[in-house]
Amino acid sequence: MLKHKTCPTCGSKRIKLVRRTLTRSSHGQIYKVPNVQFHACPDCGEHVYSPEAVSKIQAHSPAFAKRRRSALPA
Ligand SMILES: [Zn+2]
Repeated sequence: MLKHKTCPTCGSKRIKLVRRTLTRSSHGQIYKVPNVQFHACPDCGEHVYSPEAVSKIQAHSPAFAKRRRSALPA
């Protein structure tokens, strides 16, 4: 897990690690990603996602799932 002590966008020291269910949309389709851990900055609203969080979000994305299915070997 990536550790951030300051916000990469505004330099705020109030950035903190949170765990939330994200609601995202992809090509007009809304989907939810439960229990995503990321750093949130209360000052500028920046969200910083670790590679693990990004892959979890992608795994829940309908667009990503579609690509994965079509990429399966025959
Ligand atoms: Zn910030």
